[in-house]
Amino acid sequence: MKNFFPILALITLLIPIITISQNMENEKYNLLTPEEEYVILNKGTEMPWSGEFVNHKEEGTYTCKRCDAPLFESEYKFDSHCGWPSFDDEIEGAVKRVPDADGIRTEIICASCGGHLGHVFEGEGFTPKNTRHCVNSVSMSFIPESQAQEPEKEVGRAIFAAGCFWGVEHYFKTLEGVKSTQVGYTGGHVKDPSYEEVCSKTTGHAEALEVVYDPDKITFKELTKFFFEIHDPTQVDRQGPDIGEQYRSEIFYLDENQKKVSQKLIKILEEKGLDIATKLTPATEFYPAENYHQDYYDKTGGVPYCHTYTKRF
Ligand SMILES: [Zn+2]
Repeated sequence: MKNFFPILALITLLIPIITISQNMENEKYNLLTPEEEYVILNKGTEMPWSGEFVNHKEEGTYTCKRCDAPLFESEYKFDSHCGWPSFDDEIEGAVKRVPDADGIRTEIICASCGGHLGHVFEGEGFTPKNTRHCVNSVSMSFIPESQAQEPEKEVGRAIFAAGCFWGVEHYFKTLEGVKSTQVGYTGGHVKDPSYEEVCSKTTGHAEALEVVYDPDKITFKELTKFFFEIHDPTQVDRQGPDIGEQYRSEIFYLDENQKKVSQKLIKILEEKGLDIATKLTPATEFYPAENYHQDYYDKTGGVPYCHTYTKRF
């Protein structure tokens, strides 16, 4: 009994300290409702089919409800018909796997705050990645792609090279939200080259398309997905019958956001097994091509011979 008192005193002293430090820890994070606490802190599970993201199809990023860390991209989401949102991949380093208390399953938690997300299953064959992150909707928030882009911009600009610019322009002009397009030359080392000079393959330029768009109607990501779907991004310095470095596949990014979005999409395509040849280069001067190349198929009434649409995302 002699030694018991100091231990008791120590415990009595420690309990409030632990509670205070837990409160301080929680203050760093978003406030949670009792249902969110039940799932995120006490590792509960929401009712199947009850969560707001089960059938959610919008493009964007799923983040941690507790700490806002980005967890999953909408591209990783698939229909598993199990009643909870399912993803076949996670944003690198965002999700931590731990053995579940049941001794069978693998629990997944937010790598930043440790909040409970759900479980991960492998070998079910739902998608080529053979992985299903089964996540409680309650554990996540969602940032739509349209909000992730700079909303303050009134017009957006993007520059793509994807083979003969006649066909590239023909396709991009069909998109809702594209305000104007212009074919031209960029990425070379000669000022204001002519079509003949570019064709001679001595200037280093690519045939390219400048797209001016309304960011409220279409995002850079949607444009870039379309870019990858109207040409074959695995061909090196050619596009079908057109051979030469001026027909290379290249994205000339105008800011860090465009670079990041392009890298992300290239990674997704590579994970789908495509050997992507598309180059990613900071934009330099864009030289508009001669007038007769602008809106070529509108003027001539023809259809593109070297571009077709293939769904890739
Ligand atoms: Zn978190």
